[in-house]
This record gives sequence, structure tokens and C-alpha cells, in this order.
Amino acid sequence: MHELAVCQALVQQLEAVSAANGGGRVELARLRVGPLSGVEAALLRHAFPLASAGSIAEGAELVIETASVVVHCSECGARTDAAPNRMLCGACNSFRVRMVSGDEMMLESVELSAATAAPAEPESMAQSVERHLRAYFASHKDGLPASGVYDRVIAEVERPLIRLTLAATRGNQIKAAAVLGLNRNTLRKKIRELEIPVVRGLG
Ligand SMILES: [Zn+2]
Repeated sequence: MHELAVCQALVQQLEAVSAANGGGRVELARLRVGPLSGVEAALLRHAFPLASAGSIAEGAELVIETASVVVHCSECGARTDAAPNRMLCGACNSFRVRMVSGDEMMLESVELSAATAAPAEPESMAQSVERHLRAYFASHKDGLPASGVYDRVIAEVERPLIRLTLAATRGNQIKAAAVLGLNRNTLRKKIRELEIPVVRGLG
């Protein structure tokens, strides 16, 4: 049963989160599951008590939120929701779309019991990324996500990086490019490709 393996990976992840935060018991774990993740929410709920028995996550409430499938259209540039079985652009109906999200399974948040919870040991960026990637791979059958995972993961990093840099430079793209160490045109191209909202005139 695939979901049992997913739950075992989830319990490991919850143990790591708990250990990094003082070792409290997991009261609640909130997951986001894409419809194309290959994970059945009902089976996940069923497998979780078995996988978590005897662990710090035993008896925890599992909240599963279903994410939507989001596609980016290379025809009109729109970013829209799509039905999992009908991958078309919601704006122009083109089939020339690339999936932006919808095949992920992410641990969104964890609530630990206050009794033993202590201030969190700051997690390094690499540790945080690895934790997310581990869960991402574990959420796919045989640990293999759909093709294009490199670009999807890089975009996940590039989008907040550019957004926060632009916020720090109050929307000044010339300054942002200098801070990032990117060519101005490269930055402009990335802003367009990643569909980062641009606020002008704040600087
Ligand atoms: Zn379109």
C-alpha cells in the first residue's frame, strides 16, 4: 500500500519537526495534497494511525487540504486552475500548458503540544529545502514525480527570492538586479516568466 509508505515518511518528517522544536507530541498535522500527487486522502487518513502508532505523532489529528491543479499557458501566458483530467488553459482553452502545481504533497504546518515545546532551533535553508523535497519525493509513487521537477523546484525558490528582493528595493528593478547579481534583462525576463506582480513607483 503506497499510502502507508507515504505516511511512514510523514511520521519521520513529523519526528524531525518535533525534535527540532523541543520534542513535543504532534497534536495536528496539516497537509496539502494535489489531485495529481497519486495520493488518496482517504487512504492516507486510514494509514496514518498505523504508521504513527508508538511515535510522537500517535493520535495526532491529520488535516488534509486538497490543492488545485494550476497550469501556466504558453499560448496566452495566463495562470489558471485546471481540472486534473482536463489540462487546458482556463483563459484561452489552449492545451499548451505546463503544470505549475497539483502533483505535490506538502506538510504545511504542525501543532505540537505546548507541554514540552521549546523555542525552535533555527533550521538552515538547506535543511528546510531538503525536508520539503523529501516529502515531495515520498509523495509520489516509487518516489518519482512527473517530468520537469527541476524547473518546478527552481521556480519555487526563484519566485520568493525575486519577490522579496523587489520588496526590499521597493520595486526598483535596477537595484534588485544589482542585489541579486543578475543582469537587468535577465531579471525582467524572470519576473515575466514567474508572473511576479510588479509594483512601480514606490522607490
Ligand atoms: Zn491560455
